[in-house]
Amino acid sequence: MGRRTDPFTIGASVPLRTVCPCCLSENDYAAAADSAHFGPGAVTLCFRCGQWAVVADDRQLRRPTPDEVLAIVADVTALRIVEAWAASNVDRLAG
Ligand SMILES: [Zn+2]
Repeated sequence: MGRRTDPFTIGASVPLRTVCPCCLSENDYAAAADSAHFGPGAVTLCFRCGQWAVVADDRQLRRPTPDEVLAIVADVTALRIVEAWAASNVDRLAG
């Protein structure tokens, strides 16, 4: 299977200009992935819409595959990331 990295390790944000594949927001940074392992296959959360995306080979974001979605929803750290995102956006989401 080759190299295995944990896509759910929380690390520092890295400067990376991307477009969210869900809401099409332009983001200057990518987070929720270990910056030491940040690269293709890393999972990241859109700060704007709260949807998961995966870093593609060209370092742009794509929607997760069905298998990746299953891995994401089964991961406790991913759940904590979503909870933190929701808590930080409670006012915006309520409005
Ligand atoms: Zn988004």
